Amino acid sequence: MTATTTTIRTRSTPKLSAADLGRLNTRFESAHPTAVILWAIGEYGQDLALATSFSDTLLVDLALSVNPDMEVVFLDTGFHFSETLEVLKQAQVRYEMNLRVEQPDPTGEDLWASGTEACCAARKIRTLDSALAGKSAWLSGLRRTDSSDRKRTPIIEIDRRGLIKVNPIAAWPADEVAAYMDERDVIVNPLTLEGYPSIGCWPCTERTSTGNDARSGRWPGSPKTECGIHL
Ligand code: SF4
Repeated sequence: MTATTTTIRTRSTPKLSAADLGRLNTRFESAHPTAVILWAIGEYGQDLALATSFSDTLLVDLALSVNPDMEVVFLDTGFHFSETLEVLKQAQVRYEMNLRVEQPDPTGEDLWASGTEACCAARKIRTLDSALAGKSAWLSGLRRTDSSDRKRTPIIEIDRRGLIKVNPIAAWPADEVAAYMDERDVIVNPLTLEGYPSIGCWPCTERTSTGNDARSGRWPGSPKTECGIHL
């Protein structure tokens, strides 16, 4: 793939005030995701990682087009659909990713059956904490259209760890997303075409009816809509 090179540097996380965040979010509200990613790389260099669940490779394609060496974090919960693991495999071939697969400490039990909060805490939240230790910032693929809870997602925010969290595609219009995915032949999890607009672990994901919130197929029968890594 064609890559635009950029200068990579490492520095300690600069503090961003609320005013700074406001200015940045105003600046990037209508910006192309690549402009946001370039800003993040310029600010955080090698201290920037990308986290993805491989529902598709949209964010990976955007980010690695700018910096092919960026660390890509995948949380291997142990309960991914085989289709998701196949997308991961295809992505490894296409992008030669600097991939970090983070696995949870063995729990010895299927926690999801007895308590999804504890299971997500062990298999997602703590594994992401571990993967991001030593980083200053990370890229996520959150989109405002994912759910009503995500409709106010800023482009840049500070997460609960105090890290800079960058959501380059949060406000990207759907028609531009579709055009980019088509043009770049972005890899898409086939489950998306089978009625799973949001794909997580198999015990906690089901098909969603057309017109429903994209996250409504997650933790069916429960008020839970987020695993906790974005809270
Ligand atoms: S989504 Fe389900 S299986 Fe996956 S970590 Fe959360 S509770 Fe466990």
